[in-house]
Amino acid sequence: MDAVEDSTSAAALRHSLLIGLCVFVACLIGTFSRLPGTLAVFWPANALLLGLLVRSPRSATVPTWFCAATAYISADLVTGGSVESTLWLGASNIIGVVGGFYAFRWVGAEDRRLSSIRSVGYFVSATMVAAALTGCVGGAANVALFGGTWPEGWILWFSGNLVNYMTIVPLVLTFPSLRPEDRDPEAASRILRLSVIPAALLALCILLQWVIGGAGAIAFAMPALVTAALLTNVFVTSLMTAISTVCTLVLTADGHLGTAVEGLSAVSVSVRIGLALLATAPLAVACVIYERRRALAALTEAVMLDDLTGALRRDEFMRKSIGAVGSRQSGLPVSVLMMDLDHFKKVNDTLGHRTGDTVLVAFADQVRRHLDDTALFARLGGEEFVVLLIDTDLDEATQIAEIIRVAQQEQSRTTLGELGPTVSIGVACSPSGDADVNSMIDCADEALYLAKKFDRNCTVSLTARS
Ligand code: GH3
Ligand code: MG
Ligand code: MG
Repeated sequence: MDAVEDSTSAAALRHSLLIGLCVFVACLIGTFSRLPGTLAVFWPANALLLGLLVRSPRSATVPTWFCAATAYISADLVTGGSVESTLWLGASNIIGVVGGFYAFRWVGAEDRRLSSIRSVGYFVSATMVAAALTGCVGGAANVALFGGTWPEGWILWFSGNLVNYMTIVPLVLTFPSLRPEDRDPEAASRILRLSVIPAALLALCILLQWVIGGAGAIAFAMPALVTAALLTNVFVTSLMTAISTVCTLVLTADGHLGTAVEGLSAVSVSVRIGLALLATAPLAVACVIYERRRALAALTEAVMLDDLTGALRRDEFMRKSIGAVGSRQSGLPVSVLMMDLDHFKKVNDTLGHRTGDTVLVAFADQVRRHLDDTALFARLGGEEFVVLLIDTDLDEATQIAEIIRVAQQEQSRTTLGELGPTVSIGVACSPSGDADVNSMIDCADEALYLAKKFDRNCTVSLTARS
């Protein structure tokens, strides 16, 4: 027990140190984007820390906050900051992250992953809180360090942090899980293919920003970002939005957008707030599309699948079977298995309907274990199931039926003893696959009727007429 606790706390400490290291590196990146006498053009550290902690709230421990604070201070000191400015800047940064983190605590876990349009509202509100709090301490730092006014410092820190939070936090929150069980290479390569068009569009938009310039150029990337939102997912959209925002900030600081001013407002407050608010548009579209896709998938599943066993519903089975038989190479055999649990009513009557349901679910799982991907499996109603086997002759189909029957007998008797229902199976085969699906089902039904007559728990096979 002690050893388990030790390894858990060692892992937690490693996690805190890793977060501290990420913050340190992000601070260095930000420091290099600092123009002489100004705050950084791009400061990813706060947004990265907030994103990591919101994504994994259990990481927000005292050691993690300590490591993060140390990272802010040490990054500033090693890049030549004075102790006084380091403390002011560190305090401004960390106070915003703490505020943002606790604002996100009001948001449910599902919404923290930006899974709906509602979650975009929560996200914008929480990041506004974080940026506003940073502004409060930043305003005081402006008075203490630069001899400026508090409101001037507040708006400068608020706008700078807002644009960073709005573009980087979504990236961290929707970053694909790296756990092997969550990986879906097929979906990943589909998204990658779909990203090509918006990525090319984005490159073109950035080129136009550079060539044409002017204040309107901050919105040039919008068509590319909305295209990304429509075609890809929330993560890719956030990534492209972040790239576009960084490029626009750099072009603005560089004077390409005609807004460069000497001194504190090299990238104007107005441009930063404008970019932050523009970033919400593609994010909102991506979240709506994601929400719609999920709703559609759930609806399709509800229409296609039997909600108890997960097998296909009768209508879907018929539609898919007719399609599968029609599209396969002609001349190859097709078989149908009709299966009916024996004396199932007795299970319901003796052990209750709930146990009956469990038996149906276990039987469906059992059948699926013995079928390959090409087989179609449906629940016709009650305790009756059907399977369509493409390119399978009578012998093979009978073998599969027997494997299922024996497995059901063993599983059922192991769990429910004498009451565990066995299964009777009727097999029908069309050797050249030219019989239609309905007549094969009728033939398999006839075979099932014979199996029931032969005292059940057996398989009867027939050849279907064309
Ligand atoms: P046989 O061996 O002749 O097939 O007898 P049987 O008792 O299995 O068949 P019968 O048709 O007499 O009874 C089927 C029972 O299945 C009756 C019905 O209450 C029950 N049933 C139908 N749908 C469900 C369901 O979704 N859940 C449960 N638990 N029972 C169901
Ligand atoms: Mg039955
Ligand atoms: Mg029945």
